[in-house]
Amino acid sequence: MVNYKSIKLSPGLYFVSTPIGTARDITLRALDILASVDVLAAEDTRTLKKLLEIHGIQLKNRTLISYHDHNGSKIRPKILDYLEQGKSIAYASEAGTPLIADPGFSLLSEVINLGKNVTSAPGPCALIAALTIGGLSTDKFYFEGFLPNNKNQRELKLRNLNRYSGTLVFYESPKRLIDTLEMAVEIFGEKRLGVVCREITKKFEDAKRGNLKELSDFYRNHKVKGEIVILIDGVKDAAGGLDLDRTKIETHLKEALRSMSVKDSAETVSIALNLPRRDVYQLALQIKNSSD
Ligand code: SAM
Repeated sequence: MVNYKSIKLSPGLYFVSTPIGTARDITLRALDILASVDVLAAEDTRTLKKLLEIHGIQLKNRTLISYHDHNGSKIRPKILDYLEQGKSIAYASEAGTPLIADPGFSLLSEVINLGKNVTSAPGPCALIAALTIGGLSTDKFYFEGFLPNNKNQRELKLRNLNRYSGTLVFYESPKRLIDTLEMAVEIFGEKRLGVVCREITKKFEDAKRGNLKELSDFYRNHKVKGEIVILIDGVKDAAGGLDLDRTKIETHLKEALRSMSVKDSAETVSIALNLPRRDVYQLALQIKNSSD
């Protein structure tokens, strides 16, 4: 059964997300676009050809261009030229969403500058997949991509993220996993929670949850392969909830509620203690209701 159809596409550049493992994790629209564009460009032409083959899409006499970090400046004018000619072009990185720790940003900037149409066929992305299964907060997160190779720079990056209250997301290689986890223990502390998501959507998919010390001990004794996303919980005293020092917050709120409304008390205490206003408001409301 063929899952795609030929469609009429406007001229422009189409960033197409492709699977991060399981080949069927591609949207029907992405297939329609890949089947219908005039020109295809890919970070890895072999990977794209294989994907087209799996889904029964024929290249026919269409051009397939290789576009990656090392030939980008040479190839971009060629792609812009196709756009000037009014052609539709799809770009796919090796896996997942283009531009997310993958090539495509300079191309996008130049296409925007040229005033040409750019659109996306959204789909798989390892950072979103990891957040989806990780079990850490997803309200707010910070994506660092790959940490620097240089140890000092890597340490500095992690130190700068130490006070961030949302979930931290890193792409990591299996070779460096243990080094990064050990560094994280040193900087964020043993108790901070983390998740190591591996081989998402593939046969050996795995999400290992624990505190950073447990994770670093585990991976010191278990060498692993495959593709990895590390999640690290945000700092919890600044914004992650009120249970850390509830008594202190209650004392402040009770004091404030003597002279102020629930709203103003919550506002004052949340600013004074650097806590999320919504959570403090809920607590203020509870205190007020129980004292009425
Ligand atoms: N553009 C891709 C995306 O949308 O996620 C990311 C490309 S980046 C060059 C490759 C890195 O993404 C891997 O080293 C790994 O950290 C992460 N990654 C990609 N696929 C993955 C998977 N199936 N499971 C876990 N991590 C994955």
